[in-house]
Amino acid sequence: MHALGIDIGSTATKAVVLDGDAQIVSSVIIRLGAGTSGVAKALAALEENCGLSSDDIDFTVATGYGRQTYEGADAQVSELSCHARGVAYRMPTARTLIDIGGQDAKVIRIDENGMMSNFVMNEKCAAGTGRFLDVMAGVLEATVDQLGDLDAASTEAVEISSTCTVFAESEVISRLANKVPIENIVAGIHESVAQRTAGLAKRLGVKDDVVMTGGVAQNAGVVHALERVLHVNITIPDNPQINGALGAALYALDKAKRVQKNA
Ligand code: ADP
Repeated sequence: MHALGIDIGSTATKAVVLDGDAQIVSSVIIRLGAGTSGVAKALAALEENCGLSSDDIDFTVATGYGRQTYEGADAQVSELSCHARGVAYRMPTARTLIDIGGQDAKVIRIDENGMMSNFVMNEKCAAGTGRFLDVMAGVLEATVDQLGDLDAASTEAVEISSTCTVFAESEVISRLANKVPIENIVAGIHESVAQRTAGLAKRLGVKDDVVMTGGVAQNAGVVHALERVLHVNITIPDNPQINGALGAALYALDKAKRVQKNA
């Protein structure tokens, strides 16, 4: 038995295949989001990785911003539910989940049964999201993958006072023109993302264990800044960007088993 979860995000498409024992058979991340060839490329990559075509998949659940656009899915489940499910499966003691993706940041409370009990979300503004970091990395002629190491080499965090992405971009350009070291600018950018995320988290209340997922969880600079601002330890699961797709695959596996039982 095989179940597929596919998370069609704003900037990246993630897919996870599980076997009948809920073990990950394969996972892929394609840096193309909703409205692109991301889904087709993810499916092709899965087939190449594990030789499974769509005919071998018993049930598919789509989630993420672009989930409505994929007609090949058997069902759709909200991102919030999939993220909670993915984390509860891998980290049963998680009670607060911070997910920062390309287009939004969310903080989810997970109860003792592994179910989402509450959430807060920023989806109105690019500040505090992966998009903010993508734009800033572009100005600094770096890639998002390099931001964590740059931050680690900083000596101080330069204040980025504008919360608006466009104004913050101008601020970064002016710091660069004033020869402020890139590392210190990066630390300031991370501090700004951490402050915004912390504001969101405090609205919900932060309860241990705190786990972070989404593409931005791979940026140690943001994670450490958030730990300092919130005064908590944050755990990052393996491959944090596939968490929503994993949750979707777990929902797909439930369905596949139910269908098999009723057959
Ligand atoms: P979405 O589901 O909205 O597409 P993701 O959870 O896939 O969002 O996260 C995408 C964001 O993650 C990007 O905007 C980028 O800033 C960040 N990101 C992706 N890969 C990395 C990486 N290797 N290191 C740091 N940040 C990354």
